[in-house]
Amino acid sequence: MAEEKWERTPGGAVLMDGNRLRDELVVDLKGRIEALGNPHVCLATVLVGDDKPSQIYVRNKRKKAEEAGMVSRHVELPGDISQPDLEAAVRDLADDPSVHGILVQLPLPDGLDAERILDLLPPEKDVDGLTERSMGRLLRGRDGHVPCTPLGVMRLMERYGVETAGKKAVVIGRSTLVGLPQVLLLGRKGCDATPTLAHSRSGDLAAICREADIIVAAVGVAGLVTAEFVKPGAAVLDVGISRTADGIQGDVDFDAVQAVAGAITPMPGGTGPMTIGCLMENTFNAARMQGAFA
Ligand code: NAP
Repeated sequence: MAEEKWERTPGGAVLMDGNRLRDELVVDLKGRIEALGNPHVCLATVLVGDDKPSQIYVRNKRKKAEEAGMVSRHVELPGDISQPDLEAAVRDLADDPSVHGILVQLPLPDGLDAERILDLLPPEKDVDGLTERSMGRLLRGRDGHVPCTPLGVMRLMERYGVETAGKKAVVIGRSTLVGLPQVLLLGRKGCDATPTLAHSRSGDLAAICREADIIVAAVGVAGLVTAEFVKPGAAVLDVGISRTADGIQGDVDFDAVQAVAGAITPMPGGTGPMTIGCLMENTFNAARMQGAFA
């Protein structure tokens, strides 16, 4: 990529700005939809119950879909809905040819089986990339939707010139939502990093991470990654979110790590907005897969 004047932290690390990149992505998608003659592209969101963070996430996703020139269809259901009724609502969207992407906001209230709900999503409409068929496609290298958070991490690294080929990467956290697909994306052909998957039983996490050129922290323990985890010049991407008395905090001790890292994501304003940006990218691709445009 051509040398660009990126914002830097006081310690000199490139600030990988997720808000900016998400906005670029949304503007780009809007331009592509307009250039195609404004075909109908529809993202359906399903919100069950009244969890406040979930309400905010869904509101932001709907807003960005509309900004990108897509249609946002929203289904809001009470927290005490029965499993069969929720399944019927999701099945309606799955069967509706005018809906291209379906996002069921997780977690669902206690008593509802999210796995059975995800099983109802056709892979083409699974824009969160969370179903076993989407995961299988990722593993097999077939066309499909990639989970939005790890995809957002990849987009941030591409945009901010983080080299991956031949580099060592450590992903902390092994969930199917983030850590596992992140490892697959880092290690696959074209990205060509050599990833290590670390977790709560990994032992000396600082020593493992110090070997890495790229660290992706997806844990949910505020400030876990300190300066002593970081090789000078490494890229550090913070996925973790902890709601503390001092507000939202990431897994990375930003103030200390920015003085050592070569590139770093802020929290908030890093991987979170890119999760939404990549949801828009997946929805656009979903509409193409379903023949909304060539
Ligand atoms: P999760 O399913 O709870 O997984 C957390 C992982 O962290 C587990 O693999 C766990 O290891 C590991 N872990 C826990 N404590 C650890 C420690 N002290 N040292 C090393 N590893 C440790 O969580 P998730 O769904 O992957 O989400 C991870 C974090 O990312 C959460 O804070 C979540 O809120 C956030 N998140 C952010 C975004 C975004 O857009 N930025 C999107 C999704 C999630 P074990 O497997 O050994 O238990």
